[in-house]
Amino acid sequence: MSFLQQAFAPIEAIAERVGLDPFVLARLRHPERVLDVHFPLVRDDGTKEILRGYRVQWSSARGPYKGGIRFHPQVDMDEVGALAFLMALKCAVVGIPYGGGKGGVAIHPKQYSDAEQERVIRGYAKAIADGIGPTKDIPAPDVATNPRLMDAFASAYAEVIGHAEPAVVTGKTLAAGGSEGRGRATAQGGFYVLQQVLEARHMDPESRTAVVQGFGNAGQTMAEILFHHGFSITAVSDSKGGIRHQAGLDIPALVAYKETHGSVIGFPGAEPISQEELLATPCGVLVPAALERQITVENAEQIRAQMILELANGPTTAEADVMLAKQGIPVIPDILANSGGVAVSFFEWEQNRVGEHWTAAEVDGRLHALLKEATRDVLATAEELGMTYREAAYAVALRRIGQAMK
Ligand code: NAD
Repeated sequence: MSFLQQAFAPIEAIAERVGLDPFVLARLRHPERVLDVHFPLVRDDGTKEILRGYRVQWSSARGPYKGGIRFHPQVDMDEVGALAFLMALKCAVVGIPYGGGKGGVAIHPKQYSDAEQERVIRGYAKAIADGIGPTKDIPAPDVATNPRLMDAFASAYAEVIGHAEPAVVTGKTLAAGGSEGRGRATAQGGFYVLQQVLEARHMDPESRTAVVQGFGNAGQTMAEILFHHGFSITAVSDSKGGIRHQAGLDIPALVAYKETHGSVIGFPGAEPISQEELLATPCGVLVPAALERQITVENAEQIRAQMILELANGPTTAEADVMLAKQGIPVIPDILANSGGVAVSFFEWEQNRVGEHWTAAEVDGRLHALLKEATRDVLATAEELGMTYREAAYAVALRRIGQAMK
């Protein structure tokens, strides 16, 4: 199955369970619009390249398209489309007035200098400028993009339209109109969701060990938050491999180590492990926070976690999801677990639209309230319809999108 087919796999049965109008489902099967662009880049050494970028605008039923931009060599229409569709569901689950979109540029970011990456995002912004806007489509950071690049995106868009319009993109630096709390929002939101689910399931303190796959924006921040709340993080990994320390890793020291060494590999006192060994490490909570399709039919049976919190988008394949349900391992799905990022993006957009700047405490309070409600809705629907958390989150989203479409 392609990633898009994977994302769609649970839909049909759930749509039937919630009595979704078949026409709404038919409408949701295809993107409303796709931007497929090519644009030039001048490298630092003066050579020139033509790059390819995508922006998929899946659904605007509930508001402007919303979703991040990733830099990754495997970016293609299938991946960006699946992520755009998941964004439509995510915004609906968390109850913010957006549809779903996603973008990407097919480059290997590590092969481009910071200055080159800035020119890439500028070229991309100009190439898609006529298809986006603060009430039309609002991008944000995703894998391998960051606040500095979002500032450059806003600046290039301003050049095209002739005036500053910070609400065209979120995840900017504070100086350029970003929101307090955006950098840690995805992980912070994931933690709020996790807390509520642990409470609802009356899980014991022994479950307070965690394993985190991916040590970037989402994964590293999650490890820090969990560590701060007394969780023992026994294994983590990044694209170069994994490390394990049964007694628990010293996360602040690991963050400092990664800063100087560029990877978690070689952290003193920890044993090196493979990505597969990492996923098979017994723990209370397994947090995939790297890329999609990491938990598959090949490794699902080896998973020894009591619960999975999907901070990455689409980390579990549809087949593996069925296996995990049979194994009795609850999965808190991406569209709920990582919705804190888009929630604070919404706050940033609101602040930009009215010219306000909220305090960190205000942002955090609103985030907590929003996710509490979203988690409560998903837990209640799971109970009401006897569904897994993923099915229930899809059900909540489909009901809301269906109502908006009507
Ligand atoms: P990032 O680029 O900051 O970090 C990605 C991390 O994953 C890096 O540490 C990288 O080394 C690691 N990695 C890559 N391939 C790996 C592999 N095969 N095994 C283990 N580690 C691997 O990206 P991010 O922003 O943290 O995003 C991570 C995931 O979270 C993505 O699925 C993204 O869509 C999702 N997400 C992020 C946000 C956000 O606000 N950053 C919001 C919602 C969802």
